[in-house]
Amino acid sequence: MTSATIERIETCLVDLPTIRPHKLSVATMHGQTLMLVKVFCSDGIIGIGEGTTIAGMAYGPESPESMKLATDAYLAPACIGRDATRVQALMAHLAKLVRFNHFSKSALETALLDAHGKRLGVPVSELLGGRHRERLPVAWTLASGDTDKDIAEAEMMLERRRHKIFKLKIGAKDIKADIKHVADIKRGLGDRGSVRVDVNMAWSETQAARAIPALVDAGCELVEQPVASAAALARLMRRFPVALMADEVLQGPESAFQIAKQEGADVFAIKIEQSGGLIAAQRVAAIADAAGIELYGGTMLEGAVSTIASAHLFASLPSLQWGTELFGPLLITEEILTQPLDYSDFGLTVPNGPGLGIELDEARLKRFTRDGLVAVIK
Ligand SMILES: [Mg+2]
Repeated sequence: MTSATIERIETCLVDLPTIRPHKLSVATMHGQTLMLVKVFCSDGIIGIGEGTTIAGMAYGPESPESMKLATDAYLAPACIGRDATRVQALMAHLAKLVRFNHFSKSALETALLDAHGKRLGVPVSELLGGRHRERLPVAWTLASGDTDKDIAEAEMMLERRRHKIFKLKIGAKDIKADIKHVADIKRGLGDRGSVRVDVNMAWSETQAARAIPALVDAGCELVEQPVASAAALARLMRRFPVALMADEVLQGPESAFQIAKQEGADVFAIKIEQSGGLIAAQRVAAIADAAGIELYGGTMLEGAVSTIASAHLFASLPSLQWGTELFGPLLITEEILTQPLDYSDFGLTVPNGPGLGIELDEARLKRFTRDGLVAVIK
């Protein structure tokens, strides 16, 4: 068995522009901030990880800034001098020291798994048990806020053979306007593209009950997190046959178990950050499988590092009935990798190199690093 200890951990914030404003019911995004973690080990190996969320603190309790603080002040100091090869044992140790902070833990665990894969010469997917698939279907989110622009964007994606599954962000406007928006887009695309919606918890239960049948009539195949409460989602499950997906209410294995127990969703949106890391997300997927709940590979609109970490996990899941939405890097104007990811033929190729199988373009990253500020914990 190889041995290596953690010598130093660096964190920084990288502010990247997006290709267009991205409108959700909770906020409109004009850029994306990545919190990057680098773990330097005694055998010379460096692992990278990323923590990212949607629209600062509008989506959930962690922001890139709070992830950096949690890492710098609590998680990283507890890692220094510890065995870098025992990733699960180290994460269990950190779980005792730091409650919640799932996104921060996911960033650190990603870096540890990247380092360990590089050390052993295998992709992260092999550390997770091996792949079921080499390529992942990738949905695109239409969220310009304008129906005609969204249709034109979808046509362009079909033409380029990049995406044929489209997720529409709704819930900010009144229900009638949202339903018309969905119906117009589905009518425009016909059988060439599938249409799903994400309400990001915007509706009350009665609003959802009014909207869901109309969405089905409009040709929508999946409704994601229409309401905020897990109990209301479970009640909607009993009323409507269309597939309902849990996202925001899924906060790791314990919540997955609770939702599964009350038959509270048809589909889980698996996210490594929301789950608390890749291994916790693997447990969420196992609970779903055991409960007969279908799976979808979700995103926090992450940059390349966390997107590829997610891709390694999703490649290793036995079932992935609804594909993925790992398009985060395509929403960002800047390429931060030396070798761009392969998005082609409606899918993403999971890299084959050791660890995550990607390399950061350091010079480019430096230009977008906030205030040139990098914390070094040793
Ligand atoms: Mg969602």
